[in-house]
Amino acid sequence: MISTKRKPMTVSLPITIWKALQISFWLIGVLLVLLLLFKPDLGILLFWNLLIPIAPALLVLLPGVWRNICPLSSTALFPRKLKFSKAWQLTTNQQAWLYLLGVIALLLIVPLRHLLLNTSGLATAVMLLVAVSLAVTMGMLVKWRSGWCATACPIHSVERMYGSTPLFTTDNAHCHQCEQCISLCPDSTKQMTSSLTRSHKLERLAATLMTGGFFGFIWGWNHVPDYRNDINLSTVISAYAWPLLSGMITLLVYLVLTSSANKKQTQFINRLFATLAISCYYWYRIPSLFGVGLFPNDGVLIDLSASLPSWFPLVIKFASAYFFFWFMLIRPNRLKKQSWSIRPNYAIDVKNINA
Ligand code: SF4
Repeated sequence: MISTKRKPMTVSLPITIWKALQISFWLIGVLLVLLLLFKPDLGILLFWNLLIPIAPALLVLLPGVWRNICPLSSTALFPRKLKFSKAWQLTTNQQAWLYLLGVIALLLIVPLRHLLLNTSGLATAVMLLVAVSLAVTMGMLVKWRSGWCATACPIHSVERMYGSTPLFTTDNAHCHQCEQCISLCPDSTKQMTSSLTRSHKLERLAATLMTGGFFGFIWGWNHVPDYRNDINLSTVISAYAWPLLSGMITLLVYLVLTSSANKKQTQFINRLFATLAISCYYWYRIPSLFGVGLFPNDGVLIDLSASLPSWFPLVIKFASAYFFFWFMLIRPNRLKKQSWSIRPNYAIDVKNINA
């Protein structure tokens, strides 16, 4: 059901449909892990060259939908749904630490793709199973989404980076009542961004690293080939130095630009850097999906190098960059009040519900 009378635009579905979607995507997640273990070539193709390339665009367009159907998110909430979560309330300090650790994990895992993950189904499956274990452990210990989906999940920092101007606000299909599990709910906060923080220095540090550094990090990452399990000192240095040093350069530029900017200018710079980051990702990633990227044998979904016209890579690069500049920088001026999902009613007695 689509409502355009309310501002912002909201799209609601019956809860039964959300549940069906959650179960379907959870089963797809299980199937992917099994394929990575037992049919690694197919698993790698589907995970790294189909699902992951779609994910950033999904986070830009429909972050609330993704948060409702993410299989890892559903798994992290099992302990609470099965009533064996301790449901500890995290302090603001602990929330900030977890968010920073999630950002650090992201910056360490992504370069590992070139060394190992992009070409090893087993390593990718192990990475996913470690993430599941951590998510479930956090779900067993702390309150609702506060220990994983809203803090430590490495993808969460990317959600915040890209998801400030969603296409529409949707239902919160996990939280039937808001138990105020986290002090700054990413799902319910309008114009959620990586730079919108709980005024905690660690969280501000994580936000600055992401907002300023992620653009350069992505640029550098795309200039490293897949080393196909050839792990030695030289390949490790190359895999990490390119993204991290490039990230430092854009971080410095970001710090200089924001040092004398007022609040409105800073918000624009934040959106600009997020737009540059995702445009940079697709600038390199779309051609590589079709075998016409910087490293023609890496990250290919379907090899069309023999049939695509020579102008294709350049046209698709500019077309995708144009789309994200329009969607994230120009269009949002009319959509100031958008959140990822609608905050449900507050629980009447939060303590009793969490007992
Ligand atoms: S809506 Fe409420 S219960 Fe759900 S994640 Fe946000 S703060 Fe937590």
